[in-house]
Amino acid sequence: MASMVHGTTSAADDNTAYRALPGMDRLLAAARALVETHGHDETTRALREALAAARERIGAGAACPDDAALLQDAQARLAARAAPRLRRVFNLTGTVLHTNLGRAVLPDEAIAAMVEAARSPCALEYDVDSGGRGDRDDVVVELLRELTGAEAATVVNNNAAAVFLLLNTLAARREVIVSRGELVEIGGAFRVPDIMKRAGARLVEVGCTNRTHARDFEDAIGPRTGLLMKVHTSNYAIEGFTASVAAADMARIAHARGLPFVEDLGSGTLTDLTRWGLPHEPTPREAIAAGADLVSFSGDKLLGGPQAGILVGRRDLIAKIKKNPLKRALRVGKITLAALEAVLRLYRDPDSLPQRLATLRLLTRPCDEILAQAERLRPAVAAAVAGWPLAVGVEPMLSQIGSGSLPVDRLPSAGLVFRPAGRKGGVLNRLEAALRGLPLPVIGRVADNALHLDLRCLQAEDEPAFVAQFRAGIGPC
Ligand SMILES: *Cc1c(COP(=O)(O)O)cnc(C)c1O
Repeated sequence: MASMVHGTTSAADDNTAYRALPGMDRLLAAARALVETHGHDETTRALREALAAARERIGAGAACPDDAALLQDAQARLAARAAPRLRRVFNLTGTVLHTNLGRAVLPDEAIAAMVEAARSPCALEYDVDSGGRGDRDDVVVELLRELTGAEAATVVNNNAAAVFLLLNTLAARREVIVSRGELVEIGGAFRVPDIMKRAGARLVEVGCTNRTHARDFEDAIGPRTGLLMKVHTSNYAIEGFTASVAAADMARIAHARGLPFVEDLGSGTLTDLTRWGLPHEPTPREAIAAGADLVSFSGDKLLGGPQAGILVGRRDLIAKIKKNPLKRALRVGKITLAALEAVLRLYRDPDSLPQRLATLRLLTRPCDEILAQAERLRPAVAAAVAGWPLAVGVEPMLSQIGSGSLPVDRLPSAGLVFRPAGRKGGVLNRLEAALRGLPLPVIGRVADNALHLDLRCLQAEDEPAFVAQFRAGIGPC
């Protein structure tokens, strides 16, 4: 027998196996269907890779594959390369606005508007009435004024950009006074002190972590003060022996010294959530009414729209911000504006919001409806993991809103829970990986030695696709 040590043998049967591999011309001719779908260049590339892999396997002792096997390999490579990197997933983490999973899902009205704006030219910076140049912010300014009571508004890439732009415009080389209890880190790279520094402003912290008083602000104001700032403590709550200065009092203190008072609301819903049994979250309208000169908030948190940062407030301050060259660098595109306009329009009819605004629909789903859904789905899911050492049950659980909104409030929900039957570890990790490996990855949450699938965010129209995946099986443990 010839030795099969790779690279050292020149045994005749090795060469025979290599020589039996087809040439590119023959493969390409047989791959006409693939060329039709993926094009000549992509198909050639995949075939070349398939041939190289076959050569490597032959070198390791394998037989020469037939043409059909090579084509199948190439087809798999083509499919993998053609699949989008930005994959759709099922967010069953229990966090409705999950930053890593894209935050708000958009309402149909916004999706339609985005498609229209993408497909055709649109009057983005063009005044159709006069034929003159327009301002892209005008697409949403009227709606924002109406919904917040502010004089003026502008829109940038996200709320971090909004805060950065307002600080850079109004407080470069000046001091910004913030309570020590509000020096927020949002996660990732957004920390109030860092943004402040990059914007060229000098942070002046006042008060203590748990308590800040009006006189702390009054004492800190000096000739270098640029503005007073309040940051919504969106992802934590300070409880116990606490005191903070209300927005109205901060506004009064700032205005008495001729300074602007700005508030970063973070999430900023445009309507009163308590009417649907959700916890109260401060709105831009309330902040403006309390005396804030500028308010910033996100488009894709509780607002339920596209990623954007919205600034509303005094006309003169917004005008100054819009003159900052960084506004151009941070501006939004037409697709974002199309979606934002459509979402804002929904807020004109608050009564229909829970039906039409996808985010609010998910947040207000009744617990018994979710529970019934879990009972309905359990058999198919349990069947898919029948061979696994697991028990699948329906259990109540608590969802959270996410994205730093209402951090301490939880929403009663329900879902499927997979509990390992024995003490043997690792099964949850394998299950979690198997669910992630599905064509439409299912993302759950491991806690308390169990995998939880909170069904709050499994919308009715997505249920068939979800069930079909489990019917097709998730493989052995
Ligand atoms: C989320 C948040 C931000 C950042 O907003 P993005 O839209 O994610 O850039 C800033 N400030 C506060 C208080 C927030 O909650």
